[in-house]
Amino acid sequence: MKNTLSSLRRRTFLAAAPAALVAACSGAGKTGQAFASTPSAEFADSEWRTLTKAEWKERLEPLAFRVLREEATERAFTSPLNEEKRAGVFHCAGCDLAIFNSDTKYNSGTGWPSFYDYIPGTLGFKEDNKLWTTRTEYHCARCGGHHGHVFTDGPAPTGLRYCNNGVALTFKAA
Ligand SMILES: [Zn+2]
Repeated sequence: MKNTLSSLRRRTFLAAAPAALVAACSGAGKTGQAFASTPSAEFADSEWRTLTKAEWKERLEPLAFRVLREEATERAFTSPLNEEKRAGVFHCAGCDLAIFNSDTKYNSGTGWPSFYDYIPGTLGFKEDNKLWTTRTEYHCARCGGHHGHVFTDGPAPTGLRYCNNGVALTFKAA
């Protein structure tokens, strides 16, 4: 009896939780296959890849370190880049690689800087099973720093939403 009840509770939780979080950086849906891994042979020998965790810790602010190197997620609506509307380019806060153009940024209402596309070749992807659903994690193709997750509820023309931690980016106005 006890088992039945607890498994029922678990099912209820699983059914309810994704809907509640769909607007958040977590989101729902199996997206793993939709985004083939970006070949990053171009950066395979990059010196950025040789930095140790301790060296990253020295280089980055504490929150940027936790996000970029430990895949943490910043709190929603905390990044000033959420409101950034000028023309320019968003760079990786780890290695300064240019990742997003401002013309692909849009207001997703999630509280995280959101883009519908990225500069080709700058991101790598992997399946992330840390929550109850499979998400597609993406990271800087050069330094490997974690940036966010990509979902299939974005606007045209790609239909994708790159949900990025603001602290993982720097902005350079055009
Ligand atoms: Zn980088």
